[in-house]
Amino acid sequence: MSDDSRKPTTTDAGIPVHSDEYSLTVGPDGPILLQDHYLIEQMANFNRERIPERQPHAKGSGAFGSFEVINDVSAYTKAALFQPGTKTDMLARFSTVAGERGSPDTWRDPRGFALKFYTSDGNYDMVGNDTPIFFVRDPMKFQHFIRSQKRRADTNMRDHDMQWDFWTLSPETAHQVTWLMGDRGIPKTWRHMNGYSSHTYMWVNAKGQRFWVKYHFKTDQGIENLTQAEADRIAGEDGDYHTRDLYEAIERGDYPTWTLKVQIMPFDEAKDYRFNPFDLTKVWPHGDYPLIEVGRMTLNRNPTDHHTQIEQAAFEPNNIVPGIGFSPDKMLLARVFSYSDAHRARMGVNYKQIPVNQPKVPVHSYSKDGVMRVQNVGDPVYAPNSKGGPQADPERNPYTEKWEADGEFMHAAYVPHRDDDDFVQPGILVREVMDDAARERLVSNVVGHLKKGVSRPVLERAFEYWRKVDPDVGARIAAEFGDT
Ligand code: NDP
Repeated sequence: MSDDSRKPTTTDAGIPVHSDEYSLTVGPDGPILLQDHYLIEQMANFNRERIPERQPHAKGSGAFGSFEVINDVSAYTKAALFQPGTKTDMLARFSTVAGERGSPDTWRDPRGFALKFYTSDGNYDMVGNDTPIFFVRDPMKFQHFIRSQKRRADTNMRDHDMQWDFWTLSPETAHQVTWLMGDRGIPKTWRHMNGYSSHTYMWVNAKGQRFWVKYHFKTDQGIENLTQAEADRIAGEDGDYHTRDLYEAIERGDYPTWTLKVQIMPFDEAKDYRFNPFDLTKVWPHGDYPLIEVGRMTLNRNPTDHHTQIEQAAFEPNNIVPGIGFSPDKMLLARVFSYSDAHRARMGVNYKQIPVNQPKVPVHSYSKDGVMRVQNVGDPVYAPNSKGGPQADPERNPYTEKWEADGEFMHAAYVPHRDDDDFVQPGILVREVMDDAARERLVSNVVGHLKKGVSRPVLERAFEYWRKVDPDVGARIAAEFGDT
């Protein structure tokens, strides 16, 4: 007998279902009938449950929360979400980069730190990492970099020889590789790591003045990391360690918070600054551009359905709002195309109609139709029109980017600035930020990584790479292989 307090099972069309347990057959032992359309609906749906996983950043999870402004930065930006006292609903997703959807959370890897703010001017996304820098600075190399971190064609296994081959042939990776092999290469939890925009963006104030900006979301829980040994053990015991930690913290009301601070560079200083301020492999030293407090992000609501709220969440750096602009960072400009392209490939052209991706302001777009569209704006379907359809207003979002570039087409590296050397900043990280014990762990992590199948010619390049980062660290790594 059925329990009256429970909702009756229905088909996807809402029709009451006869049985949750038995297929429709001819007699109890007879064949299954094709007209059991509920059974067929269940099997067909199951076969189509998975959508392509993200390439990269496939393994991750997230939570909802809010961002509240606690300082007045209106001198630098007119963006509505950064005006004094403003509180904005938001979503955060954290992830590893190279691992697939079922891979352990505690592999050594940078962590994605993707944010979506549902602002009064539409959605603003900041698709950052837990590191202020990246491995490459030109999008031509991004695909190759990620492939070198994923799986070989023949063995279908990850391969340290392939990783070091790419890294040692690409000196611009030295800063991020030093970071990755250091203590912060494996955060203890997502709550205990910072998030960075990594890219430089533009901010524009109400007077139309432009600034360059870098974002630092500093964890209020404090930075904590796992050693390689701890991470290896946890990977075997609980592959979802970070996912579980965030979920359980929010369930028990221990809401994690991050304080957003920014570095601001006056627009005209970029040209002659000692580092190219748009090079994604470099930081702006704090001594040059100190941190300015902006606001606080709090995560306080777990998703209730991982697939629709996290797996289908589409973060895209092209989502910028009035008061924020792009910079000439080549990696940023490529991501502005490639993220939305990836979402179209994974979820179809109408992914922005999935509730988690919908803005909380009305949409008056001329996009229409296409697979899985559930709502159109309606007539008129063209612009310009004299029928009362939406009309663009340049005053609501004036174009603010202004860059200097000479007009010849070319495939070329950035013009180096005075201190632009790939080994300067990783050297500072090793010598001035790490202490003796942290340097020891760096050497041990690199040696452990290199000992897993890296071939001789690549090893020799790795020794040279580390000698350039720091002669002492390089010598200690080489000595572990009997190389002096
Ligand atoms: P500072 O001494 O002002 O800053 C050093 C920063 O290094 C700290 O604020 C902290 O960043 C970060 N840090 C501490 N331990 C580690 C670690 N084990 N691995 C990675 N980062 C760590 O010096 P500068 O600003 O002049 O930068 C010196 C070097 O520090 C840079 O070359 C860069 O490698 C690294 N760094 C710089 C950052 C920047 O934006 N300027 C940000 C992070 C690192 P945080 O306060 O963000 O936690």
